[in-house]
Amino acid sequence: MKKVTEMTKEELLELQKELQKQYEDFKAQGLKLDMSRGKPAAAQLDLTNGLLTALDDYHTESGLDARNYGVLDGIPEAKRLFSDLLDIPAEKIIVGGSSSLNLMYDEMMRLMLFGTQGEKPWKDVKGIKFLCPSPGYDRHFAVTEDMGIEMIPVPVTADGPDMDVVEKMAAEDEAVKGIWCVPLHSNPLGACYTDETVDRLASMKTAAKDFRIFWDNAYGVHHIYEEVPLKDIFKAAEACGNEDRILYFFSTSKITFPGAGLAVMAASESNVAEIKKHMTVQTIGYDKLNQLRHVKYFKTADNIRAHMKKLGDALRPKFDMVLNTLEEELGGTGLASWVKPKGGYFIALDTLPGCAKATVAFAKEAGVVMTGAGATYPYKKDPKDSNIRIAPTYPTPEELDKAIHLFCLCVKMSGVNELLNERG
Ligand code: PMP
Repeated sequence: MKKVTEMTKEELLELQKELQKQYEDFKAQGLKLDMSRGKPAAAQLDLTNGLLTALDDYHTESGLDARNYGVLDGIPEAKRLFSDLLDIPAEKIIVGGSSSLNLMYDEMMRLMLFGTQGEKPWKDVKGIKFLCPSPGYDRHFAVTEDMGIEMIPVPVTADGPDMDVVEKMAAEDEAVKGIWCVPLHSNPLGACYTDETVDRLASMKTAAKDFRIFWDNAYGVHHIYEEVPLKDIFKAAEACGNEDRILYFFSTSKITFPGAGLAVMAASESNVAEIKKHMTVQTIGYDKLNQLRHVKYFKTADNIRAHMKKLGDALRPKFDMVLNTLEEELGGTGLASWVKPKGGYFIALDTLPGCAKATVAFAKEAGVVMTGAGATYPYKKDPKDSNIRIAPTYPTPEELDKAIHLFCLCVKMSGVNELLNERG
């Protein structure tokens, strides 16, 4: 397609008419599709149906009855499985319930209410702030917003957050208490932190002694096009005496069953001791049968990796479909830009400035629900109104094909409208 941004007003008006016609055709199909969340499709969930029957015995390896109370921080064999998978010593690991977001919320709440390592509770810190690489994960931002923590957006590149900005803000302001990080195949950009980014985060000077990195490695084993290594942030932080800075989160939500998988937290041994002191008041223990079920089903970390290869094979055609359609429909038009992710669950697209909300609204009117425009920024405020998160996993291939064609049409419609507006 010709570069739309360089069209004359007459050409744009002509195109607008043509697009409107195509849009009416889409509307007439009465589509009803949801691409708003990164949910696995049923066919993906089927890949781990063996979990439903994996529990042939309820005893742990030490003979403990997993049906009963006991063991706050996870059965040893579950810790070992994640220790092998993530290359983190088992002593640093807590296996929690089924949601890592829940663990993050609880951790933030503990920091707010009790503080950490002898520093004052965060609720008592005037003007408390958190660094939010954006676009990022909307539910992270919801956690910090819920607690009244001011969110500071930080630009993200394919290599991770703009570290010049992060270092400056962390060093200058004692009220900057931490940063949200999704270090591999980030939601929604697909950013993968380089060794340099990891090193700088681990070693940077922070004005706050209790600066914390919420290291949410939710997509740590979710490679689709390319296996990307991630530098060990614990080792990097330990090397400069900053081990307590790292709060690591992980879950099997996008590996087995979201909402019924396992969530994991890892931290320095002194942090773990502090966390357990409060956790033991909060719960007697998490679901050990679910832990046992996952251990019995996967047995080894290598089996999880093999499963992730299968999952990657299942997801790749969907990602291909989206990326190919974006290229065919929008490539060279000047109306949108996007980056091919190496893995994860999303593709982030930037429309022309001022067009994201209109694009999403057009799609909705024709029956396709996208993630809300702005959702990928703190306070849902995308300063350019241009970022849209595409979540290709949930629809069937047939649905996805329709949805993404409609989406491209909506990007064009809003872009053309915006260009015509500009030209008066
Ligand atoms: N972190 C990120 C970056 C995510 O994308 C998601 C799921 N969309 C979660 C955490 C939620 O994980 P869980 O199901 O373990 O709460």
